[in-house]
Amino acid sequence: MPMLLRDVYDMAVNCFRGIGSPSPEADAETLLEYYFECDRTYVTLHMRDPFDESRCEGFFRLMDLRAGGTPVQHITGRQEFMGLPFRTSPEALIPRQDTEILVERVISLLDKKKPPFGGFELLDLCTGSGCIAVSLAKLLGKKVRVTASDLSEDALRLARENAALNGADVKFVSGDLFEPFPRKRSGEARKPFDVIVSNPPYIATGVLETLRPEVRDHEPRMALDGGPDGLDFYVRIFRDAPAFLKPGGLLALEIGCDQAGAVTALADGSGAFDGVTVVRDLAGLDRVVTAVRK
Ligand code: GLN
Repeated sequence: MPMLLRDVYDMAVNCFRGIGSPSPEADAETLLEYYFECDRTYVTLHMRDPFDESRCEGFFRLMDLRAGGTPVQHITGRQEFMGLPFRTSPEALIPRQDTEILVERVISLLDKKKPPFGGFELLDLCTGSGCIAVSLAKLLGKKVRVTASDLSEDALRLARENAALNGADVKFVSGDLFEPFPRKRSGEARKPFDVIVSNPPYIATGVLETLRPEVRDHEPRMALDGGPDGLDFYVRIFRDAPAFLKPGGLLALEIGCDQAGAVTALADGSGAFDGVTVVRDLAGLDRVVTAVRK
């Protein structure tokens, strides 16, 4: 009996389930798609096709990589986000579906506003792979002028590549949060923004070791470590964002699902924001905080 594609798929699913992957079926499908350079429909339609055994070795190599803990996105080098293609690398977080909530919320809030001449000035802090900045630039088009910053030059290289891949117009800046952006003597920004977005590192340092191996061993600590209570970046963002936002400007941040209380307290405590709102993700978990500069 020849081996069928289905047998290879089942083998992969069992193997990935064995290592405790949270998504064994999706992992197997994604690797088959990648291996055959085809889309999911092809894999589904050809499940009963014989699988040429001479090709097994190549696929088993990919399976071994995944079984060793490497995320599928680091094997394929790609991940879709907001329906757009993104390159991935170990230098930045893999784009996550949760983060689409942040992008969708920003788009729906901006849809209600009339853009100023030249478009909303939008800043994405800790841009990483660039998925937030690039998808907002791409999906909002001329309504926005997007700047994105990161401390990691390696992440910026990937983000630039992703902007080029999507034909998105994003200005990239290297530096630590607001540090690269000039201020007046009064402390106010020279060029304040209409919108500031960020998915900063927000995992408490002590929790890093407990993360799934895919994340713990294969994604950059720098993109995850939010300090002793996971809140370091929010404290710094709420300290400086008032100076960098125009009156009425929007701040939208991804948060950890247990951080809504602490982050809304920072927003309220700063005295500079109104309309502080928590948005939940598809799993019903708190995922995004938005606030409007008074
Ligand atoms: N959501 C990511 C995770 O759970 C963390 C992202 C972040 O720190 N910004 O792995």
